[in-house]
Amino acid sequence: MIVVMRPTATPDEVEGVKRSIEEHGLEAFLSEGEERTVIGVVGDVEAISHLGTLPGVDQVIRVSSPYKLASIQEPGERTRVRIGAVEIGLGAAMVVMAGPCAVESREQVLETARCVQREGARVLRGGAWKPRTSPYSFQGLGVPALHLLAEAREATGLPVISEVVDPADVETLDRHVDVLQIGARNMQNFALLRAVGQSRHPVLLKRGLSATIEEWLLAAEYVLAAGNPNVILCERGIRTFETATRNTLDLSAVPVLRNRTHLPIVVDPSHGTGHRGLVGPMALAGAAVGADGLLIEVHPDPANARSDGDQSLAFDEFGALMDELRRLQFVRSSADERGPLPEERPVVASGIDELRDRIDDMDARLAELIQERASLALEVQRQRDPHVHGHDVGRERALLERAAGGTSGPMTPTELTMIFDAVLRASRSVQRRHAQSVVLREDAAVGSDR
Ligand code: PEP
Ligand code: MN
Repeated sequence: MIVVMRPTATPDEVEGVKRSIEEHGLEAFLSEGEERTVIGVVGDVEAISHLGTLPGVDQVIRVSSPYKLASIQEPGERTRVRIGAVEIGLGAAMVVMAGPCAVESREQVLETARCVQREGARVLRGGAWKPRTSPYSFQGLGVPALHLLAEAREATGLPVISEVVDPADVETLDRHVDVLQIGARNMQNFALLRAVGQSRHPVLLKRGLSATIEEWLLAAEYVLAAGNPNVILCERGIRTFETATRNTLDLSAVPVLRNRTHLPIVVDPSHGTGHRGLVGPMALAGAAVGADGLLIEVHPDPANARSDGDQSLAFDEFGALMDELRRLQFVRSSADERGPLPEERPVVASGIDELRDRIDDMDARLAELIQERASLALEVQRQRDPHVHGHDVGRERALLERAAGGTSGPMTPTELTMIFDAVLRASRSVQRRHAQSVVLREDAAVGSDR
């Protein structure tokens, strides 16, 4: 913490601040400038939040973040949270959590669970207790819903997430579900946050309707400080002046959080938009900004849902969204989840040295081949108009698919695609450089003609 004194502060006032810091067991470092004195404080500054009120003090600036456990210690630090066998965060594949807003009946939840599992979701959502704006709206089935969710988990193998609204229910939910959700309306229900801090299950903490990112992270800090390290944050839209959407989905929160916290981040485009037609585009956008997961409402018959029907996807709509997420490679296909294929290319070698020699040799051949490929790409560029874009995305996609599916070996299709993606980007870079040089030469020629 840095305390900046007013230019008019007297030596007694500076001394008063220094004394107050030291009385709290902290160290004060004075730096006397031409115009004003600045005091650096080292130690736990929570106890000296009153410094700003002392005479002669102009500003108190916090240097370290107030959310010690939620904040990152170094750039890029990430945590991975386990939900049963599913992992979310730190390099894990993106996790889609899907299911009805509320559990309504046995058929509804089982049918939805089977659908979302088939389509590639990896966690089943379903509210047992619903925090509703009106006390006359459907409030959820309560404990019987938990039994139905457990049955759906049994049937599909999907772990289950459900919201807890009362600290007294934490133990009950703990017995039935795999992730406890704290809803937007309860983000600052500190008793509830402490209670889920005692749970052995991960907690998905939704952003409050009008919570700043700092308030949200401090809410996460309550759970972490109470002893539960497994917190997942969920951006679900905030209240703004805009009425065209139910909330304003703050996607910039994802990269902002990425710079501040190591916790996994999920985006909920259902509550974030309130309209079925907007869920798909915003789900893709959430994936594009780097969300670790998506939370999506799906219902067998949205028109007759007892809550949030307007924003719930029908089964075919959810299927189409999952296809799109797979096509854009935000979600891995089940073939990739199988892990390395059995060894289909036996390697005969006498030892590590020989293996390394062969790898070096192969790298040299690969480099030659890649250069040869680039020469072909360059020739394509020479033969086409340098002024038009000319970049055939469809052909590239087909090439990636062919490359990914055409061979067998220890690499998964996703890993192979990573390589071809890099080759294509590099080729495009060669082509673009050539096109630019042609256009520049033309410009120069036109210039000299004038
Ligand atoms: C929910 O996910 O069911 C829910 C009520 O969401 P929120 O707390 O974001 O409104
Ligand atoms: Mn809902």
